[in-house]
Amino acid sequence: MKPFAKTDLSKAKGFFVLLDIDGTLTYDSGVKMSEGIQKKVKELKKNNEIFLCSNRNNHQRNWQVAKILGVKYLETNHRKPSQKILKTFKTKKPLLVIGDKFLTDGMFAKRIGAKLIMVERIRSQKETWISKLIYGIDDFYAKLFMK
Ligand SMILES: [Mg+2]
Repeated sequence: MKPFAKTDLSKAKGFFVLLDIDGTLTYDSGVKMSEGIQKKVKELKKNNEIFLCSNRNNHQRNWQVAKILGVKYLETNHRKPSQKILKTFKTKKPLLVIGDKFLTDGMFAKRIGAKLIMVERIRSQKETWISKLIYGIDDFYAKLFMK
């Protein structure tokens, strides 16, 4: 598994992409994104339709990230891995989920029949203990269920 900026996306063409924010594009609750990340999003945007999809319902901040990247944001209060998110958009393209968490992004992809790309998580020194705990649990399940 590689960080998003170093992920091979050469096969990602013609997808409707549900792109996670926290841990994937920036650290938890952040808005700062490296040049590598921004370049990668540009690369993905060339051949795919991208919607940011976040379980953090700080919509203002999520829109801010979307604006920086020049992509759309799927504003909903449904949370991954809920299939209800499927009802918030329409597309005929095959779906691709990109994210860092097995229990949200991974399960979500499985439930909606999407392709999945898991990326190595971006972390910060300022993480709250609850974030650390959730990440710990997630890593545990990811190790159990992913090859
Ligand atoms: Mg995430």
